[in-house]
Amino acid sequence: MKRLFIQSVLIVGLVLSSIATASSFPTEEPMGGKPFGHSVKNIGDGLYVFRWWVYRNIFMVTDEGVIVTDPMNPKAANLLLSEIRKITDKPVKYVVYSHNHHDHISGGKVFKDQGATFIAHKNVLKELGDHPSHATPLPDITFEDEYTVQLGGRTLELKYFGPNHGESLVVMRLPKEKILFVVDIVTPRRVAFRTMPDFWPDEWVRSLKEIEQMDFDYVISGHGPENQPAIDPGTVVAKQRIYLEDLMAAVKTELDKGTHSPDKLRQIVKLPKYKNWQYYNEWLPMNIERIWAYYHMGW
Ligand SMILES: [Zn+2]
Repeated sequence: MKRLFIQSVLIVGLVLSSIATASSFPTEEPMGGKPFGHSVKNIGDGLYVFRWWVYRNIFMVTDEGVIVTDPMNPKAANLLLSEIRKITDKPVKYVVYSHNHHDHISGGKVFKDQGATFIAHKNVLKELGDHPSHATPLPDITFEDEYTVQLGGRTLELKYFGPNHGESLVVMRLPKEKILFVVDIVTPRRVAFRTMPDFWPDEWVRSLKEIEQMDFDYVISGHGPENQPAIDPGTVVAKQRIYLEDLMAAVKTELDKGTHSPDKLRQIVKLPKYKNWQYYNEWLPMNIERIWAYYHMGW
């Protein structure tokens, strides 16, 4: 029954997204002064996707309390807390950071003030320690490879795949539902983010190959505007990897032909297979320059 529910959400989402392929991300910037919309989608059985602007997290409501992931920023975290309070009066017991980047986690204090225990990969301790912020509490529980959060009969598995986007990104899995929550390294139907800040292209591809071996049927990604489905089929992980492989191969081919100017590469290299992906025109040249740097400088 639950599986049927998830599938119907998925089908409705996919139909909506195919209708919405012509539209793009909101053009206003975070500091643009416009209020940013938020929404909550119930995926079923106490699992919710919270969206603020193009950021998303998941939260799980159990009989013993709530598990929250990525608290985003103070404004979004306060909205999230008020949405949780519409559903349950149980305490937020755990907050899980997907990785160290402040744009995803700097609303943590809102939940620390509620007494939540914070969980993250061990490298988050050093990264946040190097860039301290009162809005971003340090994790109380850290781990090296894997950690399992259990609360009220629900299970959330955390797994580290080594460096890929920063050096602390964990993939979250709901084993019973076979759902992954993946932040930043899988964003369906969108080219890679701008100049791929803090992304290691080769490690990113390696990590995605390893993630593809996990046991899952669905993916919830940490980014997506309102017109994108809250949950996608698991195949989006392989599609993300193939995009990166195609991008790297196209840049390498042009380099091997003797085109070494990044400005020329930005003009010459095209990936028409992805022309309907979001930000193809705007961000593909930036993706190309990042891959040029990877081959040119070795990082
Ligand atoms: Zn990030």
